Amino acid sequence: MVNLFSKRLKRGRIFCLFLMLIVHNSWSAQIEGTQSLFNQAEQIRSSDPVQFITIIEKLKQREELLTKEQSHNLKYLIGYSLSFQGKFDEALTIYKNILSSNAQTTLKLKANLSIVNTYAISKQWPEGLYYLSDTLNTLPKISDDLLIQRSYAVAAIFYNQLGQYELGLSFANKLLQESIEGRTLCVAHNLKLESLFKLDLLEENDPQIREGIEACQQSNEVVMVSAIYSYLATLYLKQNNPHQAISILESNFDSLKTTKYVPYLAIFNSLLSQAHHDLGTNRQAEEYALVAIDEAKNINISNSSVNAYRVLYQIAESRGDHKMALEYHKKFAEADKAYLDDIKTKHLAFQLAEHQATEQKSRIGLLDKQNNLLKIEQRLARSEAENNRLFIALLIAIITLLSFWGYKSWMTQKRLKQLAEFDALTGVFNRGHFTQLAQSALQYCENSDIYLSCILFDLDKFKTINDSYGHACGDWVLKRVADVCKVQGRSNDIFARLGGEEFSILLPGCDLLTATKLAETCRKAIEQIDTRNSGAKFIITASFGVTDAKLSGYDLEKITADADMAMYCSKHDGRNRTTVFGRALADENANVNAGENAGSEASENRQGRLTL
Ligand code: GH3
Ligand code: MG
Ligand code: MG
Repeated sequence: MVNLFSKRLKRGRIFCLFLMLIVHNSWSAQIEGTQSLFNQAEQIRSSDPVQFITIIEKLKQREELLTKEQSHNLKYLIGYSLSFQGKFDEALTIYKNILSSNAQTTLKLKANLSIVNTYAISKQWPEGLYYLSDTLNTLPKISDDLLIQRSYAVAAIFYNQLGQYELGLSFANKLLQESIEGRTLCVAHNLKLESLFKLDLLEENDPQIREGIEACQQSNEVVMVSAIYSYLATLYLKQNNPHQAISILESNFDSLKTTKYVPYLAIFNSLLSQAHHDLGTNRQAEEYALVAIDEAKNINISNSSVNAYRVLYQIAESRGDHKMALEYHKKFAEADKAYLDDIKTKHLAFQLAEHQATEQKSRIGLLDKQNNLLKIEQRLARSEAENNRLFIALLIAIITLLSFWGYKSWMTQKRLKQLAEFDALTGVFNRGHFTQLAQSALQYCENSDIYLSCILFDLDKFKTINDSYGHACGDWVLKRVADVCKVQGRSNDIFARLGGEEFSILLPGCDLLTATKLAETCRKAIEQIDTRNSGAKFIITASFGVTDAKLSGYDLEKITADADMAMYCSKHDGRNRTTVFGRALADENANVNAGENAGSEASENRQGRLTL
């Protein structure tokens, strides 16, 4: 069962692949076919208009299969066929649509060339000139040699038709410099000879005439051979050599007649009429002139009819047929005027186009200048912004520098203040600052009649600590003592290290009793300092002396001296105690008296009385 199923699956797959192959092959065959239709259309577009239209119809049916470029190409071919049918406006619309589309540059150039041709046919010179200059501007971007040659040919034809033979000559020369052959070579020679002829730069024995005739004969371009013969015949006529003119024209007349190309048939007939008139064979001259006029009647403006009418009125005049002469002269004048007007119109159109081009150039120049001005303005704005940025950066740098400098100086000030006001080791006020603060506090308290007390204390046997445990340990002790005492008082107490191991606390607004209690609190706190952190174990004690303004007055020296005295009493009484100055004084007096009696007894009494 499974086997059967897998076999069917396999067969199904093969069938699908087969189908895909068929679809793919037929599709690619169609693509190839489409491209060959395009190639065919390109080849026969001017030689076989019927077949050309059939191919276009076929391509239209495949429109959905076309690539973007092919569909642009098809539009171009449709435009071409419309031009061929004389539907110039419709053709122009299609060509212009191609120009504004995203078609390739080469196709756009082809459309441009067709527009130039169409405007030339309809004698819309200014428009033609506009698109011609567009074509010539596009040329540097084109690498397709055939298209470049075609552009040179179109430019030369257009300028010659416009009567700008110098420009026509320059493009004919450009075309001749290309590696061309066959019909293109013949066209190039013909255009060059036409320009030279119209510019009066051609002589009948110029070898270029022979070259041109040969090139055109080789490619069997009878009309163009005839054109060259017409220049030559005109030159012979100018040289008063009508025989030669007639011989040349007649030798080529039969083959020209086979082309049925009316403009040159008219030219030949008119030249023959002129030649015969010059020879005095007026009957032939008249015949040729009438044929020329008949042929030229379908051509709006023609030099052939001008010449033919001239011959006719001159013959009529010589015959004495004034009525006929007047009639022909009128026609001659009309044809001549039309011919001259046509030349004038072309000339004006060219001048206008040149003027417009100059104006456009100067407008472009002005725009360029404006553009440059804008660019300069933009550059200026950019450099202004840059300057602003630099200025701001500079400002920020200056502000940062100033801030840094300010901070540094503030720090220095702070450090100097610290150094000036505080004791570096303990962090409490130093003696100098203590003096300042104490004096103003004393002044204030005196003026306001406020209590003020002063405590002074000195560490006991501090020298022994230094000696026993080292100076660093001594420093540690000083710091700890300051720390434990600092926290006991109030914030407005003035606590200072007066020097060595001697400290003072000035207590504004504090009476003697409270100060004495604070001294005791400090003394106990010092005693309780745990010295193990210093690396040794020992007890720190200090001797305190207390006084107040009531006892000692508001003079700093006096109040500290009294406190010092009380402190020395504490030392004297065995240290680690507090002595109040009043009592110390009393005791001092007592001591003096006792000393006079018995020394040791007095000492004991003093200790008992002084110690709190
Ligand atoms: P008394 O109980 O009588 O006050 O004895 P004392 O040893 O404390 O007094 P003395 O005046 O003999 O010694 C004070 C010592 O304090 C002397 C000095 O070396 C020391 N000293 C002073 N300033 C400092 C200091 O800043 N650090 C240290 N470690 N020692 C200091
Ligand atoms: Mg001391
Ligand atoms: Mg001491």
